[in-house]
Amino acid sequence: MPYDAIVVGGSYAGLSAAMQFARARRRVLVIDAGLPRNRFAAAGHGFFGQDGKPPYAILEDATRQLLAYPTVALVRGEARTARQADGGFAVALAAGREERAARLVLATGIVDELPPIPGMQERWGVTVLHCSFCHGYEVGDRQLGVLANHPLSAHQAALIPDWGPTTYFTQGVFEPDAEQAARLAARGVRIERTPIVELLGDAPALDAVRLGDGRVVPLAAVFTAPTTHLAGTLAEELGCVVEEGPVGPYIKVDDRNQTTVPGVFAAGDAARPMQNATMASAAGVMAGLGAYQSLVAEAAPPAPATADAA
Ligand SMILES: Cc1cc2nc3c(=O)[nH]c(=O)nc-3n(C[C@H](O)[C@H](O)[C@H](O)COP(=O)(O)OP(=O)(O)OC[C@H]3O[C@@H](n4cnc5c(N)ncnc54)[C@H](O)[C@@H]3O)c2cc1C
Repeated sequence: MPYDAIVVGGSYAGLSAAMQFARARRRVLVIDAGLPRNRFAAAGHGFFGQDGKPPYAILEDATRQLLAYPTVALVRGEARTARQADGGFAVALAAGREERAARLVLATGIVDELPPIPGMQERWGVTVLHCSFCHGYEVGDRQLGVLANHPLSAHQAALIPDWGPTTYFTQGVFEPDAEQAARLAARGVRIERTPIVELLGDAPALDAVRLGDGRVVPLAAVFTAPTTHLAGTLAEELGCVVEEGPVGPYIKVDDRNQTTVPGVFAAGDAARPMQNATMASAAGVMAGLGAYQSLVAEAAPPAPATADAA
């Protein structure tokens, strides 16, 4: 096999996985299409040692550090298909080339599907946000909204008052139950049952939202939990079991980040229902170590020394 491992996805999870192979002086190929999930945000937050740095700058640094190791190769492009071959894996690139390795790490991330309301997409990552820990500080002390999109939204609304005065828009879809309503009241969250139909202001800034009855409510930012999808179909093609999380599917892995297909590991947003860059990176480290250790474990023991040789 030309490589010990192919890592598909060269962001927080994938680069962290590949680094373990580099440190072990093993041959690893990273294939990356260059579209990290947080590319819509001007800066990443809460990531150890990197707070406030643009996402692509963080990844450029990490990629440069990884490529300093002589056993690492990088292809900028898309892995189109993956299959089992010759006891390992074959990955076809968009350019038509095929690469082979003994192990495969899927660190391909997820894709966010925002509620279909005019004005959401162009504000994504700036004033339309999914994570208050990531970007709440920057919009703090202003009028904030939570747009219900999943049953988790009421939980999200209970958090947001720590960043600013909060209105929970049920959108006519997710009405809080009695316990949730009591918690929202205790946290000072206002509940609005007339749905948001449009976001207003000079995007990506947000000034207000228009409701279905024509009222305009001033807001500086809206939090929502997008529906998520796995980026691409490699996991399904390989036969990995995929589980359903609260907002979308994720690849099932064990405590070494091995999927249900032996030799295929997965890490990052693609392989856990609760996500951020730190957790993706940590899972990438585990996937890299797990994949590396599985190679060592299957290595044939050396032939016993014969009397002649002695
Ligand atoms: C708007 C926004 C802002 C965020 N801000 C923060 C923040 O401030 N702090 C924080 O901790 N978290 C933040 N997050 C979450 C964070 O972005 C993710 O948890 C993190 O990016 C997950 O890392 P990952 O490596 O699993 O996947 P990603 O970063 O999504 O990377 C996946 C990589 O795989 C590549 N890829 C996918 N399929 C293929 C293929 N077939 N072939 C080749 N390459 C492929 C993609 O192009 C991409 O480069 C934010 C998320 C969003 C949506």
